Amino acid sequence: MAMSGVPVIVLREGSERSTGRDAQHNNIMAAIAIGEAVRSTLGPKGMDKMLVDSMGDIIITNDGATILDELDVEHPAAKLVIQVSKSQDKEVGDGTTSAVVIAGELLKRGEELLNKKIHGTRIVQGYKKAAAKAQELLKEISIKADINDKELLKKIAKTALNSKGVTNAREHIAELAVDAALAVKEERDGEIIVDLENVKILQRQGKSLSESKLVKGITLDKEVLHHDMPKDVTNAKIALIDANIEIEKTEFDAEIRITDPTSIQSFLNNEEKMLREMVDKIANTGANVLICQKGIDDMAQHFLAKKGILAVRRVKKSDMEKLARATGGRVVSNIDELSADDLGEAGHVYHEKIGEDDYVFVEECKNPRAVTVILRGANKYTTDEAERAFTDALSVVRDVIEDGYVLPGGGASEIELSLKLREFANTVKGKERLAIEAFAEALEIIPVTLAENAGFDPIDKLNAIIAAHGSGKKYHGLDVYTGEINDMIKVGVVEPIRVKLQAIKSASEAAEMVLRIDDVIATKPSKDEEGAGAPGGAGGMGGGMGGMGGMPPGMGGMM
Ligand code: ADP
Ligand code: MG
Repeated sequence: MAMSGVPVIVLREGSERSTGRDAQHNNIMAAIAIGEAVRSTLGPKGMDKMLVDSMGDIIITNDGATILDELDVEHPAAKLVIQVSKSQDKEVGDGTTSAVVIAGELLKRGEELLNKKIHGTRIVQGYKKAAAKAQELLKEISIKADINDKELLKKIAKTALNSKGVTNAREHIAELAVDAALAVKEERDGEIIVDLENVKILQRQGKSLSESKLVKGITLDKEVLHHDMPKDVTNAKIALIDANIEIEKTEFDAEIRITDPTSIQSFLNNEEKMLREMVDKIANTGANVLICQKGIDDMAQHFLAKKGILAVRRVKKSDMEKLARATGGRVVSNIDELSADDLGEAGHVYHEKIGEDDYVFVEECKNPRAVTVILRGANKYTTDEAERAFTDALSVVRDVIEDGYVLPGGGASEIELSLKLREFANTVKGKERLAIEAFAEALEIIPVTLAENAGFDPIDKLNAIIAAHGSGKKYHGLDVYTGEINDMIKVGVVEPIRVKLQAIKSASEAAEMVLRIDDVIATKPSKDEEGAGAPGGAGGMGGGMGGMGGMPPGMGGMM
C-alpha cells in the first residue's frame, strides 16, 4: 500500500477499510458527483442554484466557486476536488466551474481506463504528461493582447460576466472593472502588477446596479467627527496619525483622589492644556485633514474644529497604509515627531452620505493607485452577487494586464487543445497513450456542456466545432447566444490565458490525486479529539464512505 508512495486516506476507528478497486471506485464516484453538481451552471446559459443553509439563509448564485464553498460535502475525495477548485478561484479568480467539470470528466474517463485494467499509476502518468503538454500548447495557441486596449479588456470582463446574474448592468460593471484595474496598474521591478488589494469594494443597498460607481481614491466608512469641522476640503494636507489624541489613561485604571476642589480644576486645566498642545502641533504642520487610527478625545475634537481641521478617527490599519501610499504621506505614531514632510496630499477630501451610511472620500491623490467601487443594488442578494461578478471581472482583467495573452472562449481553446493533444498522444507509446487520448477527449466536456446548458444538441455543436478546427479555424467555438459556430475572438468571447492554464492544471491535479488513492484505512482518534468529541480540523466529515469519522491531519500533507 503506502510503500509505493501512493497516498492513502486514513479513516477513524470503527469505519471499514476499503482497498484497491473498491476504494478507487468510491472516491472517483464522489469526485464525479461534485462535477455533476456544478455542471449545469457552466456558461452564460447556465442555471442559477439556490443554496439554503441550516439556518434557512439563502444564496442565489451561478458562481461555481460560491456553490462549492457552500456545499456541505463529507466525502474526503470530493473534498479534494473542492480544495483544488478553491485554489483556482484564489489564484486566478475565474474558471472554477470549468476546472471542476474537467476534473469530473478526467475521472470518468479514468474510471473507464481502470475498467479496462489499465493501472492507476499509468493513467496518472499519462494525465501528468498530457497536462504538462497542454500548458505548452495553450501558450502556443494564445494571442498577444494590447493591455492598454480598453475595448479588448472590456470584452474579457464581459465574457466573465456573461455567466453572472448581472445581465442588465453587464456593460457598466465591465467598464468599472476595467477602469479600476487600469487605475491601480503599476510597475514593480519591471513587472506589470495589478494588485487587487488596491481595489476596495463597498456594497450599498438602494438604487440600481447600474448606478454603481468608481471613486478614484480611498473611501473611509466614517463620519467627520465634529459638526463644526469642515466637511469638504480642497488641496488637503493630511496628517496620518497612529496614536490616541487623548490623555493617556494609566494602565491599571488608577484612581485619582482629589480632596481639594481647586485641585480638580487644575487637573482638568492640565488635561485641556495637553490636548490643546497636541492639536496645535498638528495644526502647526499645516495639516487641514487629520486621519487617526486611534481615538480622538471630545475636547480635542473641539479644538481641531476650531482650527478648521477635518478629522476622522478609528480608521483601519489597512486603510491607513493605503492612505499613506496614495497620498504620499507617512503614518506617524508620535505626535511630537509629526512634521510638514509627513503630510499626505489629496486634491479633494469630503464627506458624503450614501444610503444611510457616512463616508469620507479622499480623492485626487498624488499616487492614485487605490480605487473604491461602490456597488449598488436593490437588496443584499443583488449586491452580493454583484460583488462576486465584479470580483470575477476584475480578476480576469488583472490576469490579462499582468500576462498579456488571451484565448478564445466558447470551447474554442479546449477543442484546439484537444486536437493537438491527440497528435501528441500519437507520439507516445503504450498505455500512457490511452490516458493522453482520454485527457484530450475529456476537454470536449466544455463545449458539450456549454451547448447542453444553452439547449443545443451537444454532439452536433461539438462536431461542428471540431470540423471548423479541422479546416484551420482555430478560434471557432460555440456562441451560446446564437447557437452559431464562430470565431470567438471576433464575437468578443475572450478569456485570459491564466484562467485556462490554471483550470487544466487544477483539474488534472485533482484527478491525479483521486486516482492515486487506492486504500482507505481507519486510524484511532487522537486523545484530544476524543475529548473534544469532534473530528479535528476537517470538521464534520462523518458519513461518506462507510461511516468514516474524519480526515486525518496527514491529509493536509497530500495537497
Ligand atoms: P467558470 O466558473 O469556469 O468561469 P462560467 O459559468 O463562468 O464558469 O463559464 C465559463 C465558460 O463560459 C467559458 O468556457 C467561456 O468561454 C464560456 N462563455 C462565456 N461567454 C460565452 C458566449 N457568449 N458563448 C459561449 N461561451 C461563452
Ligand atoms: Mg466564469
